[in-house]
Amino acid sequence: MTFSPPTSPSPPTSPLTLLFLHAHPDDEAVLTGATIAKATGLGHRVIVAYATRGDAGETNQDLGGETLGERREAEARAACEELGVQRVLFLEFDDSGMADTETTKNPSAFCNVSLDEVTARLSMALVNESVNVVIGYDRNGTYGHPDHMQIHHAAHHVAPALKASFVLDATYSREFLASLDSDRGYDNIDENFASGHDELTHFVEGRDIFAVKLEALKHHQSQVPEDWDPDDESQLDGFAKSFGTEWYIAVPVTPDADPEVLADLFEPSATWSGQPPPFP
Ligand SMILES: [Zn+2]
Repeated sequence: MTFSPPTSPSPPTSPLTLLFLHAHPDDEAVLTGATIAKATGLGHRVIVAYATRGDAGETNQDLGGETLGERREAEARAACEELGVQRVLFLEFDDSGMADTETTKNPSAFCNVSLDEVTARLSMALVNESVNVVIGYDRNGTYGHPDHMQIHHAAHHVAPALKASFVLDATYSREFLASLDSDRGYDNIDENFASGHDELTHFVEGRDIFAVKLEALKHHQSQVPEDWDPDDESQLDGFAKSFGTEWYIAVPVTPDADPEVLADLFEPSATWSGQPPPFP
């Protein structure tokens, strides 16, 4: 008996290395938590790199002797462990704070640093990695935060240097959010928010991975709004209806990039049912 190699037209799926580039601790869970949980569950290698520690943010927690950046770094590391992330990096840029505030004038704020500097720091940290896919944010930084907009540019700048084959912009569906009940507050969003539904190429969703995303979010205690109760089923149902699907715009880095590398992790947007799966 002779051995015959498989004749499947698609190449066997091999483990990828995915670099999730995030602006601040908690963005990894809010925007991409289910995707990271799915990726690590499938055996892919996930690296999360934070541009900043979120030190210009706000909190209603008593930090004791800690700085907000120290607290948020610890929360991010715990959330990444929950999601199965293999490697966590902090790029040590300063948080720019919200648009039109004093902190955005800081020359070492992430929104003011050069993309070459971001790429240099990442390339040095990832010299022994072979990154296949870089995940950043859409051109609006989803909601216009200066650091999130810079993540969009940084992801597209660093991907060729790392020889990645795809950049995926994490985003929301503008039309879908606007179609939800007006009491959710998304009825007057414009083209400066997230992305048009017809721009979206891929999505990730699933009850089990959404449950892991919620567990990861619980680690970000310093950022949890006072009125958020993670055990309240009606709040969870509302959150799942709005954010139960994680959306992406995939952009090939080179013309010969093979879309098959995305196939076991990301589903094509054309196959979406029209609603995130119900939860809980
Ligand atoms: Zn952020």
